[in-house]
Amino acid sequence: MTGGSPLPGAPLPADELAGDPLPAEAFDSHCHLDLLGASVPDAMAQARAVGITRVITVGVDLETSRWSAACAAGRPDVYAAVAIHPNDTGAAAGSVAEKEAVLEEIAALASQPRVRAVGETGLDYYRDHADPAGQRDWFRAHIAVAKQAGKALMIHDREAHEDVLRILEEEGPPERVVFHCFSGDADMAKRCAAAGYVLSFAGNLTFKNAQPLRDAAAATPPDALLAETDAPFLTPVPARGQPNSPAMVARTLRCLAGIKQLPVEDMCALVTATGERLFGPW
Ligand SMILES: [Zn+2]
Ligand SMILES: [Zn+2]
Repeated sequence: MTGGSPLPGAPLPADELAGDPLPAEAFDSHCHLDLLGASVPDAMAQARAVGITRVITVGVDLETSRWSAACAAGRPDVYAAVAIHPNDTGAAAGSVAEKEAVLEEIAALASQPRVRAVGETGLDYYRDHADPAGQRDWFRAHIAVAKQAGKALMIHDREAHEDVLRILEEEGPPERVVFHCFSGDADMAKRCAAAGYVLSFAGNLTFKNAQPLRDAAAATPPDALLAETDAPFLTPVPARGQPNSPAMVARTLRCLAGIKQLPVEDMCALVTATGERLFGPW
């Protein structure tokens, strides 16, 4: 222990939030650049300073999906995902015609070259923002959009593992599927990996009480792993309580490397290759 370590709970200075620069470049597979306190150029400069050279910024409704696609179109280091978040499906459309119009626009955005995923879509049974049957309909529709566009499907699954897996099977999954902010246990991780799905772990992997999540990461094949921030949410340890940003995926990557008992450099190379397989070519 060195004398310079901050006391538990003490805020970290801005330039120490992400820790030391990574030994190789890597990327943040899921963030919300529109929700950060910082500007996009500032957040991306901070990220680059620690080796994070690309991010996927994710829409949750029509407005933020448009924003994400436009942001990606304007920057070489940003790619986009577009969809209606399960929690937003209730507000997204009233009539069948309105729903179809929303999906048509999501499909049009998904066809843009720098939009690399349809998401975040899926099921959220934890929050009761939207009727579960409605969420399932939207999830099925998004699966079809992803297949049609030939883009990855980026899944939000909160307390809905069985229904998410069942609906993927029923619809026939797209070729490329990623569970963002994976929240299942080791058994769920093995089932996902066996189906060819990729699991993206967020900053909560570093939380003290997250041993089941670390066990899930340990059970996941190294080439089926990604790391993300879900910024501005889920700031990793030891910066909890401070705003999250793409740079801090470096902390989650180090944690993942520790779990997989791999050099950090190898972990960075693995997620970069898996990211390119899912969202590429870069
Ligand atoms: Zn989510
Ligand atoms: Zn998100």
